[in-house]
Amino acid sequence: MSTPRPRATVTQIPAYVPGKPPVPRDDLVTYKLSSNENPFPPLPGVIEAAHAAVDLANRYPDMGNSALYAGLSEKLGVPVGDLAAGTGSVALIYQLLQAFCDPGDEVVHAWRSFEAYPIAITSAAATSVPVPLTADAEHDLDAMAAAVTDRTKVVIVCTPNNPTGPSVTQTALDAFLAQVPSHVVVVVDEAYLEFVRMPDAVDGLATYRAHPNVVLFRTFSKAYGLAGFRVGYAVAQAEVAAALRAVSLPFGVSSVAQAAALASLDAEEALLERVADLVAERDRVGAALREAGWSIPDSQGNFVWFPLGERTADFAAACDAAGIVVRPFAGAGARVSIGEVAGNDRLLEVAAAFRRG
Ligand code: PMP
Repeated sequence: MSTPRPRATVTQIPAYVPGKPPVPRDDLVTYKLSSNENPFPPLPGVIEAAHAAVDLANRYPDMGNSALYAGLSEKLGVPVGDLAAGTGSVALIYQLLQAFCDPGDEVVHAWRSFEAYPIAITSAAATSVPVPLTADAEHDLDAMAAAVTDRTKVVIVCTPNNPTGPSVTQTALDAFLAQVPSHVVVVVDEAYLEFVRMPDAVDGLATYRAHPNVVLFRTFSKAYGLAGFRVGYAVAQAEVAAALRAVSLPFGVSSVAQAAALASLDAEEALLERVADLVAERDRVGAALREAGWSIPDSQGNFVWFPLGERTADFAAACDAAGIVVRPFAGAGARVSIGEVAGNDRLLEVAAAFRRG
C-alpha cells in the first residue's frame, strides 16, 4: 500500500521556530523578549471594538475588508484598490509568491533576514536565493541586484531588517530599483516601519507611488500591538493588489481582527506615545550595550541583535537562567525584543555579566 506523498519541495521547507513562552518561575518575573511583540496592551478602544465584533461571531466576516480598507485608504492617502489585507503580513508573503511565482522561479532576499521568507518561498515551490548581509548586518543591495537573473520574479527587501535591525536608505533603494527590471516585483517589508528614526530611511509610500513594481508589506502586529489578531496588509499598484486579493484565503481576516485593526487606526495619539517610549528604550539599551563593550548593529526596529556566532547558545542559556527568553539563531546571533523597562534592565545586567565572562 502506498501513502499519499506531498510535493517533493514540501519536505525541504525549513521549520519556523517560534519564540517560546518563558517557563513561569517562583523566584522572579520572567520576560518574553523573543518575538518582537509589543509589551503594551492593545490601544484604547480596541478591546471594546473587538468585543462588539465577537457578538456577531455567528456571521462570516466582511470578505471585502471594506471598513478596514476605507480606514487605511484615508490614513495613508492611497486608493482602496491598492490595498490587500491578510492574516498577518506573513500571509501576504505567501499570497504574493502564489500569485507571481511558477515552480522554480527565483526569489532574491537578504540573509539573514525574516525566517519566514525561505519557508514561504519553498512552500510555493519557488527557489530561494539568499544574499549575505554586509559585515555591518545590512542589506547588500548591489549584491542583491547582481543576483537577479531571468528566473527572478520577486526580490524582498526587509527594512528595518529582522533580526539584525538596520534600515535601508532611500538613496540605496533608489539605486537598487534603477538596476532591477520593472517586471520583477520588489517587496519592501516594512513590518517595523513605525520604529524607524533614521533620517534617510526608505519612504515606502513615495517609493510605491514612483515604482509600479514595488509592493509594501505592513502589519498591525508590532507597533499596533495586535500580534494575536493576525492582520497585515499590502500597498501596491491596483493590478498587483488585485492579484494578492485574488489568492487570499476567503474570509481570512476575522471580524474581530478587522474591528480591532480599524479601532487601532483611530488611536493614533496613543500609538505615537507608545512607539516613542519603545524607541527611547531601544536607544537606551543600544547605548548601554555599546558602553558595556558590545558591538551591535544600529537597530531601527523594536529589537537588538547580538552577533554572537558560536557563543549564541551560551548567551541564550544565560538569558534563560535570568528569566528572559530571547530568540537565538544557531551559530549566528541572538535577537532580543525591547520590552518593559524592568525586562530591558535585566537584559542589560545579563549582557554585561556575559561579556565579563
Ligand atoms: N515581516 C517581518 C520582517 C517580520 O519580522 C514579521 C514578524 N516577525 C512579519 C513580517 C510578519 O508579521 P505578521 O504576520 O504578524 O504581520
